[in-house]
Amino acid sequence: MAYLTKAPRGTADVLPDESYKLRFIEKTVGDAAELFGFKEIRTPVFEHTELFQRGIGDTTDVVQKEMYTFEDKGNRSITLRPEGTAGAVRAFLEHGLFNEPLPQKYYYLTSCYRYEKPQSGRLREFHQFGVETFGSETPAQDAEVIALAKHIFDIFDLTNISLEINSIGCPECRGTFQKALKEYFEARKNELCETCLGRLERNPMRILDCKSPVCSEIASGAPKVLDYLCGECDTHFASVQKYLRAMDIPFTVNPTIVRGLDYYTKTVFEFLSSSLGAQSAVCAGGRYDGLVSELGGNPTPACGFGMGIERLKMILEAEGKVLLEDEKPDLYIAPANSDYSFEAMRITDALRKEGVSVLTDVSGRSLKAQMKFADKKKAMFTMVLGEDEIKTGKLKVKNMNTGETAELELNNITESFSKLLITTKLTGDVNSEKSILNLTLLDGGKK
Ligand code: ATP
Ligand code: MG
Repeated sequence: MAYLTKAPRGTADVLPDESYKLRFIEKTVGDAAELFGFKEIRTPVFEHTELFQRGIGDTTDVVQKEMYTFEDKGNRSITLRPEGTAGAVRAFLEHGLFNEPLPQKYYYLTSCYRYEKPQSGRLREFHQFGVETFGSETPAQDAEVIALAKHIFDIFDLTNISLEINSIGCPECRGTFQKALKEYFEARKNELCETCLGRLERNPMRILDCKSPVCSEIASGAPKVLDYLCGECDTHFASVQKYLRAMDIPFTVNPTIVRGLDYYTKTVFEFLSSSLGAQSAVCAGGRYDGLVSELGGNPTPACGFGMGIERLKMILEAEGKVLLEDEKPDLYIAPANSDYSFEAMRITDALRKEGVSVLTDVSGRSLKAQMKFADKKKAMFTMVLGEDEIKTGKLKVKNMNTGETAELELNNITESFSKLLITTKLTGDVNSEKSILNLTLLDGGKK
């Protein structure tokens, strides 16, 4: 039964010594999305399998090899979401959100499921921050979406990230391109992998995305999509680049990016980091003007991206950039013995209502053991509550970083401790750039 204490392959627990970093990352990306006018959307973790088959495309690796699909007890084919876009489009259609002022701009933070070979930066359950916009076909919209991803990397001060863009055209110009591709790959048919042989018939562009070394070697000499763009797609792509330059967003054009998903049109892009090794893409997206109608809606232009949260965290750590420290308790209140536990709990509760993070004894520990515990938890202040304190109405509060003590009145302890805490945080030894960041980014509503 050893497997009972072992999580399934490709999944990861997030323990308290790591979860605060993710909370910080998630809050930061969510706030950035809100700043850009995106609103949060939450969709179910599973959908009808057909939604992904139609929405992602059944010639893609995701649909062909990676989906977690099962039959439920009502004999429906259900799939755990491998990505967030299809569900967002379904919700957009189901709730008639196309009747709202356009463009509609959504973001989400969700778990995704793909049956892949687990390795560094590649999990079977992973998390994505994604954005989608519906209803604008202009290059400005593509550029705004790219600018949001760039803004996030800038907030984290990540300089080691590069942006690569391409255009894969519209169904019209892609027709001629697909024909040229087919001819090219047809000539080297006997070298292609099994999967790509199937793609050759149904969607030769997918071969460009194949990860097998032989196929990608052959793909490197294939015709380039940029040479086949129609006038409109060409102008659109040039204009996206002009917007990026206007916002000082550096990029390179990489004509080999085609993305793994069938619904992309025109702009496609990836943000890559050299800190990620083989799994170098941290964010990938583009325009998918064909998807909404593919899923039964009126033709609606759309674009967005998906950003891998685990990969973002890996980059931040590789570059030593997780600025946030785990939140430490502001105060530990130690009852001298169990008689004072009630008063300690009352003060703890009152201070918590003021937004102060307080710990007190809930284990029946001796005073000495409590002090050890407070030290381990790195409480900023401690105070002891016993016979003397109750008698005199005076409490000694000790700053654990400096060793200094202050005397506060028991009858207005909530107010006076809150004041002491603010002054210490703003002027004391914790007044580093780091804690200012903590205060401004995370403790927005907190004193
Ligand atoms: P890759 O080329 O690495 O397989 P992909 O093209 O399959 O990526 P997308 O479907 O575009 O990736 O997903 C967007 C982002 O989600 C990726 O850029 C990556 O950061 C992250 N991601 C994708 N698959 C995984 C996974 N199995 N584990 C962790 N993160 C992932
Ligand atoms: Mg993949």
